[in-house]
Amino acid sequence: MSGPSLPVLAPIADGFDRRVTYLRVSLTDRCNYRCTYCMPEAGVDLVPRAEVLSIEELARVVGVLARAGVRRVRLTGGEPTVRHGLVDLVEKLAAIGLDDLAMTTNGHVLAELAAPLRRAGLSRLNVSIDTLDPVKFRQITRWGDLARVVAGVEAARAAGFRGTKINVVTLAGWNDDELPALARWAWERDAVPRFIEWMPMSGGAIFAPGTFFAAAEIRRRLADELGPLVPDEAGDLPGVGPARYHRLASDAAHRFGIISAVSEPFCDTCNRVRLSSTGQLHTCLARDEVIDLKAPLRAGLSDEELLDRVRAGVAAKVKSHDFSPTGCGGPRKHMVTIGG
Ligand code: SAM
Ligand code: SF4
Repeated sequence: MSGPSLPVLAPIADGFDRRVTYLRVSLTDRCNYRCTYCMPEAGVDLVPRAEVLSIEELARVVGVLARAGVRRVRLTGGEPTVRHGLVDLVEKLAAIGLDDLAMTTNGHVLAELAAPLRRAGLSRLNVSIDTLDPVKFRQITRWGDLARVVAGVEAARAAGFRGTKINVVTLAGWNDDELPALARWAWERDAVPRFIEWMPMSGGAIFAPGTFFAAAEIRRRLADELGPLVPDEAGDLPGVGPARYHRLASDAAHRFGIISAVSEPFCDTCNRVRLSSTGQLHTCLARDEVIDLKAPLRAGLSDEELLDRVRAGVAAKVKSHDFSPTGCGGPRKHMVTIGG
């Protein structure tokens, strides 16, 4: 990908000297699944379409932030593949000249979309699979179909995606016994498993079939069945994301990541902000404070003026969140509206 052609602007940093280099963009608050840990049972109030940024507006915000040092972008949702104009957006973002342009998806329509997304310039994929049991998969996603998602992972590989990450939310008493099998399943497909601690969102009003399963327990469960583990210093390259990596001591190719926001927080290295589909910039996943970019965008502000808004909001970013395994300390917002 080529570099941005406009002059580079001063970087965005918070009061703790953490620079913003990574942006997650939620393309929609809509989803074709209803995962129990992500959405309240009653669903969420969907925003009117007029409130949602257009493909051009989304591309403009990414372009502006890229001028100030954002090098990596991840598309998310809700479910990003239900957003009309996704392939067009990927083409526009690929033309900006980022180091990495990735997407997180539930994989339900990936079998059809993998090849067009690859052609449009998407670099990498994360696909969410919490269980290999089709009945349990249906239970956790409420509307999901495991066979379609497996076909999507295979289509992604055939389309040329490499190092696809398999996101697994870990829940004690529900899928903790499956973690070694999920790791093997991913490795057999040249994919990288990433185990994610459940995070308390939606003001505590969510249901998960199981309880909190911490990073240390994930490592213990994998080591008991797969053998000794060693930290993998290669980290998430080229992703440089929030996961911490380990691998089997016996085999360097068998790596896995853990995202341990609750039990082993990584706030001190936070390099990211999140843009919602309605143009709200969230400086922390775990907090409800936002910077509105939609109104200034629609009022015709210049790149520099938009960046002044972003810099002011990021300067006020908190040092760390206060998530706890008991479900306290989370924000009122729903995971489905911001996309993880
Ligand atoms: N729909 C896409 C998907 O499911 O991959 C993208 C959005 S989803 C919100 C992004 C990731 O967040 C998924 O891997 C999902 O499993 C994870 N997730 C959702 N709710 C969560 C929660 N409360 N705690 C931890 N991870 C969660
Ligand atoms: Fe939809 Fe993803 Fe949330 Fe599941 S985790 S409800 S697929 S946004």
